[in-house]
Amino acid sequence: MKAIFPSIMLLYFSFSQGQTKGQIPPDYSNRLDSEHFVFLWNSDKASQEEIERTKAYSEEIFVSYGNLVGSEHMPDRKIIVTFNGDAFDPVTRRKTNSGVDYQARVNLYRYNEYGYTGPLLHEYIHAFRKNTLNRWVRFFEEGFASAISYYLEPETEEFSRQGFAMEVLAGYWLDTGTDIPMRTLREQHNNLLHCRIQSYVLREDFFTYLINRFGIEKYLEFAYSPRIGSIELYEDIWGSSFDELVSDWEPDLLKRYRDYPGAKEQAEQYLQMVPAKYVRVCEAGVDF
Ligand SMILES: [Zn+2]
Repeated sequence: MKAIFPSIMLLYFSFSQGQTKGQIPPDYSNRLDSEHFVFLWNSDKASQEEIERTKAYSEEIFVSYGNLVGSEHMPDRKIIVTFNGDAFDPVTRRKTNSGVDYQARVNLYRYNEYGYTGPLLHEYIHAFRKNTLNRWVRFFEEGFASAISYYLEPETEEFSRQGFAMEVLAGYWLDTGTDIPMRTLREQHNNLLHCRIQSYVLREDFFTYLINRFGIEKYLEFAYSPRIGSIELYEDIWGSSFDELVSDWEPDLLKRYRDYPGAKEQAEQYLQMVPAKYVRVCEAGVDF
């Protein structure tokens, strides 16, 4: 009898560590495993060099995010990552975004010269949380993935801001009166998914403002609270209501935008580049 327990334990551990959260999709002929990820691709969609680069960066992200939030918030099963070719088709002008699916698998598309790794940090933050949380509040999750990406890698020149300053791209909407109010973004998140050119930077700047003003610990306390999604949680964590926090943030962003040399010209330049030029700007009265 005695001998059974160690072998069961051994089986259990080797099984749990090798396991993935979602199912391995059958559509890929190549597979590479790293400590915390399983990479899947077909040879015509990704080069060995792209796979190796993504693998190294993936493990780096696992460490830096794990150090920030603590190992209790990290997935105990491997994350599945698939490579699916170019995000933009210049002929059809069709665009496919990288994302995390319902099984918490990360499906990547290549963004021009930024390759597969541009949105990697953002998507992994979604995947790590989808692997460990029971509640999923999409407005907050998008803001969280963007703001923590910025917190961990503020200097990145990758997709999607491509080196432009956050206050330039976010402040432009506010300064020109073409922003989407934060309350609207929160309340109508699912209806405004197509408004990403405005919504992503505005949310990212709002949550980064809260991190800078109140500290990263408070932000993580909010992010990992079981009450996430409750509007009262804003007041309980930060001492002001959601609307008050937004009212404090807006003039702060406007000031940073107006103090930034050449902000308007830079924002307009960004809007002429890929992917921004493929995206329609949402309008009050039409979209919300
Ligand atoms: Zn996202």
